[in-house]
Amino acid sequence: MTEAPETFADQLLGFSLPSRHARGRAVRLDGALQEILSAHAYPPAITHLLAEALVITTLVGGLLKDGGEDGDGGQLTMQAQTDGGVVRLLVCDWQGGSLRGYVDFDAERLDALGANPSLTALFGKGYLAVTFDLPKAGGRYQGIVPLEGATLGEAVESYFSQSEQLPTLIRTAVRSGTAGTVAGGLLVQHLAEGEEGRERLHVRLDHPEWEHVAVLAGSTRHDELIDRDLSLEALVWRLFHEEQQVRVEVGAHVSRGCRCSTEHYRAVLSRFPEDEQLAMGDENGVIVVDCAFCSRAFPIDLAPTQG
Ligand SMILES: [Zn+2]
Repeated sequence: MTEAPETFADQLLGFSLPSRHARGRAVRLDGALQEILSAHAYPPAITHLLAEALVITTLVGGLLKDGGEDGDGGQLTMQAQTDGGVVRLLVCDWQGGSLRGYVDFDAERLDALGANPSLTALFGKGYLAVTFDLPKAGGRYQGIVPLEGATLGEAVESYFSQSEQLPTLIRTAVRSGTAGTVAGGLLVQHLAEGEEGRERLHVRLDHPEWEHVAVLAGSTRHDELIDRDLSLEALVWRLFHEEQQVRVEVGAHVSRGCRCSTEHYRAVLSRFPEDEQLAMGDENGVIVVDCAFCSRAFPIDLAPTQG
């Protein structure tokens, strides 16, 4: 018998506790995270915030049924924004293992906040929008919740309990050091018996079955989430080994992915009327499009090619 390979970084692990009607996702981002961060030169507080957001996006995106590598383009977008906050906009999205994200912030005002600003200090009165685009199911739906709580994870927990009626627990950890930034996370949620996929009238956060799972999942330690030598299988086993049954399934490989390209922007711009194209371009008819995810500028020449 050969031992099953274990999951360490940049790969989702799905798990479920059938007897407790709970399901979960675990992930640790390492190389993929370094690659996303390398497009920017963010200060530590913003690096930390984006790393946490990318972990949560991966965990939530990993819940999409058609969002795996061989899915048909199901996409999850998390967008946090505010009026007049230090962080103006944070966007992350996930599509079949492709992950990207960026933060738009006021550098001067961030400096004034010190080394470890709270979520409230960063966003002020902010909102979090979670959008699912599901081409196969033919739908797009979005939930918006106030950006409240101590962490982004708490705001996403309240998105699930308020908008989706799903009791959810999220834990994340981020560490930056000489070996770069590593971030890990765990998401667990309760699907009431026989109710998956059905509209529920109310959510029982005090369900004894869920309370039990939440206590176990809540005992995850930060250092376990970011320990590069601890497999996600071992992490899940540590938490739930006393349960009747724990099922695990290796999910999508995670990598930095962006849809920006000269061809993509040319196709988008070509749909604009000619006079608008002229107005957007410089004196040579070149339109410069910025990809905020990649910090890259794409000069697009829409003039008809000679010949
Ligand atoms: Zn890009």
